[in-house]
Amino acid sequence: MENSLDAGATQIEIEIERGGHKRIAIRDNGCGIVKEELELALSRHATSKISELADLESIASLGFRGEALASISSVSRLTLTSKPADQEQAWQACAEGRDMQVVVQPAAHPNGTSIDVVDLFFNTPARRKFLRTEKTEFAHIDEVIKRIALSRFDVSIVLKHNGKVLRKYAASPKESQKQTRVNAIYGNQFAQQALQVNSQYDGMQLHGWLSAPGVGRAQNDLQYVYVNGRMMRDKLINHAIRQAYEGGIAPGTHAAFVLYLTLDPEQVDVNVHPAKHEVRFHQSRLVHDFIYRVISQALNQSFAEPSIDPID
Ligand code: ADP
Ligand code: MG
Repeated sequence: MENSLDAGATQIEIEIERGGHKRIAIRDNGCGIVKEELELALSRHATSKISELADLESIASLGFRGEALASISSVSRLTLTSKPADQEQAWQACAEGRDMQVVVQPAAHPNGTSIDVVDLFFNTPARRKFLRTEKTEFAHIDEVIKRIALSRFDVSIVLKHNGKVLRKYAASPKESQKQTRVNAIYGNQFAQQALQVNSQYDGMQLHGWLSAPGVGRAQNDLQYVYVNGRMMRDKLINHAIRQAYEGGIAPGTHAAFVLYLTLDPEQVDVNVHPAKHEVRFHQSRLVHDFIYRVISQALNQSFAEPSIDPID
């Protein structure tokens, strides 16, 4: 899905069979891959997203290591089908397991790319054993898709499981429509009570929703932070948020938030965590204090708002 977003897709369709045990397929309407590069896309460390060393200093794409397709194809039967808009014919590369014998043949496909993964871990029984039940694996997939859906309101996402459409996130680029997607994902309760923030400072922007003081959740299941569109579990950011909420949330409950931090890619190093869930900020104090300030202000303002209409 990240590849689809990097390819500029506006529509992504995911088809899962048996919790992904049998099949995981993703189709997009992005820029596609030319025939000559299909095989390359499946090889290790091949990426089209970085062409010189300097690009590493300011990564704006979600991918950049060229590992995903190579590693998935080494443990499954994978078919990559693609058609760039200016290529007459679609082509397809099939790879099976580690030997990486890639067969390229003509195929039928609209503009965009499909990746079809069947029989995951068919050749690595030890890893196959670690797959959970179909229900649990599907829940993981659903969760990952929610996170991505929250990161790109302008992209429509459809999720099918065993032939049935289970999620349909319509593209909702307008501010008012964003709320609809947040509601669809987290229920009206959060969205109705949430405070909205949108502040800028020194090239940084923080935008999103957070729970008002006193309306904590029983679980910490609704805490999402995105840095330049990428979902993060970052210590520094979490610390700033926790500090801002200090005392403002009932004991035993958890704050809920969906926050988007945007800043110059040169100010962030995403190459510090294998799953890219952590980043390093070049000016970490500045980032921390900015987040802390915006959230505390929002919380304080909501405290200050009179709960009964003033008598005049
Ligand atoms: P990375 O995303 O780190 O570059 P991947 O293994 O995920 O590595 O993909 C390898 C390459 O295949 C990408 O750099 C890109 O050129 C191409 N690619 C993969 N998926 C898509 C897609 N959905 N649309 C267009 N190109 C793709
Ligand atoms: Mg990738």
